[in-house]
Amino acid sequence: MQNSEIKTTCSYCGVGCGIIVSKDPSNGVTVKGDKDHPVNRGMLCSKGMNLHYVANDTSDRILYPEMRWSKSHPMERVSWDDGLDRAAAVFSSMIKKYGPDSVGFYISGQCLTEEYYLVNKLVKGFLKTNNIDTNSRLCMSSAVVGYKKTFGEDAVPIAYEDIELADTFLITGANPAWCHPILFRRLEQHREKNPKVKVIVIDPRKTDTALTADLHLQILPGSDIILYHALAKRIIEKGYMDTNFIKQHTENFDAYMKLVLSTSLEKASQLCGISIKEIDLAVDLIGKAQGFLSLWAMGLNQSAVGVDKNTALLNLSLLTGHIGKPGSGPFSLTGQPNAMGGREVGGMASLLAVHRELNNPEHRQEVADFWGVDSISEKPGLTATEMFEALESGKMKAVWIICTNPMVSLPDSRKVEKALQNAKFVVVQEISHNADTAKFADLLLPAAGWLEKEGTMTNSERRISYLPKGINAPGEALPDFEILTRFAKKMGFNGFNFNTSEEVYKEYCQMTKNTNIDISFLNYNRLKHEGTFQWPVPDYGHPGTPRLFTDKKFYTPSQKAIFNLPVSIENTSEQPNDKYPFILTTGRIRDQWHTMTKTGKVSRLLSHIPNPFLEINPIDAFKAEIENGDIVVVSSKNGEVRVKATVTDTIKEGVVFLPMHWGKQLDNDLNRTNNLTNTLIDPVSKEPDFKYTAVAVAKYEKP
Ligand code: SF4
Repeated sequence: MQNSEIKTTCSYCGVGCGIIVSKDPSNGVTVKGDKDHPVNRGMLCSKGMNLHYVANDTSDRILYPEMRWSKSHPMERVSWDDGLDRAAAVFSSMIKKYGPDSVGFYISGQCLTEEYYLVNKLVKGFLKTNNIDTNSRLCMSSAVVGYKKTFGEDAVPIAYEDIELADTFLITGANPAWCHPILFRRLEQHREKNPKVKVIVIDPRKTDTALTADLHLQILPGSDIILYHALAKRIIEKGYMDTNFIKQHTENFDAYMKLVLSTSLEKASQLCGISIKEIDLAVDLIGKAQGFLSLWAMGLNQSAVGVDKNTALLNLSLLTGHIGKPGSGPFSLTGQPNAMGGREVGGMASLLAVHRELNNPEHRQEVADFWGVDSISEKPGLTATEMFEALESGKMKAVWIICTNPMVSLPDSRKVEKALQNAKFVVVQEISHNADTAKFADLLLPAAGWLEKEGTMTNSERRISYLPKGINAPGEALPDFEILTRFAKKMGFNGFNFNTSEEVYKEYCQMTKNTNIDISFLNYNRLKHEGTFQWPVPDYGHPGTPRLFTDKKFYTPSQKAIFNLPVSIENTSEQPNDKYPFILTTGRIRDQWHTMTKTGKVSRLLSHIPNPFLEINPIDAFKAEIENGDIVVVSSKNGEVRVKATVTDTIKEGVVFLPMHWGKQLDNDLNRTNNLTNTLIDPVSKEPDFKYTAVAVAKYEKP
């Protein structure tokens, strides 16, 4: 970049705001919102508007490869060739001795689509294991399964422009005012112009989102499914359902109707901790909606019954026929900038590229043929928590971690710590020494960060953006795609002769030909000169597809959407007991992102909430003799956290809340929320149950 502006995309959340980057005279960069971008129209949230601090501050960056020759040796600087030769030797030897499933890759929704595609090709096609998973497993894998079960494929049907076309919003298990601020700002602007617009929020906490709602259903954690069934029951009883849509375009309605009509409103009211009147108020708002948009995030997904929560919510859109038309539809919010791109290229252990299924022999062969390999293993790969359990038990020997910080973000941190200590070989490909996981590396590889490499990402509405390289990476850091191709060549694999990200992108695009996410006609040239596109883009000159299912043809064999029934309406989380009487729910704060390796460096962002805290209801605090600001010990069967108490009636009695961001910022790790959480996962999506852990809370007494 030579004293000129470039257009790119924010590297934080899945909203995908457009950013204009300029170089200032002191050779740093500055950022501002892109007024012409269809997502943010010039707006940026606190995180996005401070991105330049992260780009300009290289003080924590890993500058050259570092390696230790054995666990007892210190890390020392090595050349790229030496580091990657050793990685290739270790991975080859492990695979030869213990088989391909003895190794695995754990990657990130921050990876660009080209990197995601390439590492999946490397692992599934050439290392011959499906042990590749991503931190997106932690935030939206339940939504992926929900969409697949309901629509036949993982397809988010809406466009952000539906926000301005809807008149009724159901925001459930999400706090977009803090976590997806620009989308929330668009919703607020829409409400300012249209006072009749109604917003229902379902959340155990009075979040900033809930405080603006017309109706806040402050349910108890884990009671979502029975609430959605109670809503469905009353929608049917009050005649609000769309009978024509149901008859013509859905399957399994009779079984669904039977189930929801058997729901006891009294039981729903009791389990949810809200009144029947509140349920009915929500039903009338939904039933009278002209455009009904449901928005959700981790509150549904991060659950032992996350898939059932998703399908139970999706059923409400089918029941009311609010799909495939302007201002209507279900809209899962993604937490990471390219979680969606990862889903498209099959970036998880259970998926293959372009919505192909690992458990389908024909799909496996199609992918194998495309990559020029004999076969893809039919054995399901280990998912995020399973992978670290396998490292802990010794079943897996080596792991390669790219652009994610599992030591802070995975549940049950002590287990993760043991897993990383027990692993024979740990590669960490990272930008920052601040990532707590980096200290466990046997080989530390410096990666290029945002603005330092080119590639593409997809946001929450299927919008693909091109991100150009604007500045050089510090030291010897390399783009992830180049690190991966160098390693593949060291392993002796064909099919990795890529010189640029664009070459990787072209190969991936060919795979999408004649599929539901066809972008075979969307090249870098169009992305650079015409801007962003929502897939599919199935022809030259095609403008992209804002909204799916406008023809009401779904991706199931019958082309009908499916009403799915939950395995159980009960929450299967670890229940509170005499020893651990509180339900802990975890979440995010406004100005931090993930494990703070980037936002934690920015003093302006830290000043919002500088320290972790425990939210506790005044009645619970009174009983435990805890006052606002007291240090409290929060304990579960897995570990302990010590933080200051925030006594607040924004949280329900019996429930406590901790933010998930902090890692080892002190001389101990008692800041870390995931010391407490457990590795219970949804049986289908394998997403962890972060929103429900039984804990005890007591005032800290100095020994
Ligand atoms: Fe970045 Fe998300 Fe904020 Fe937009 S809303 S500026 S994408 S963090």
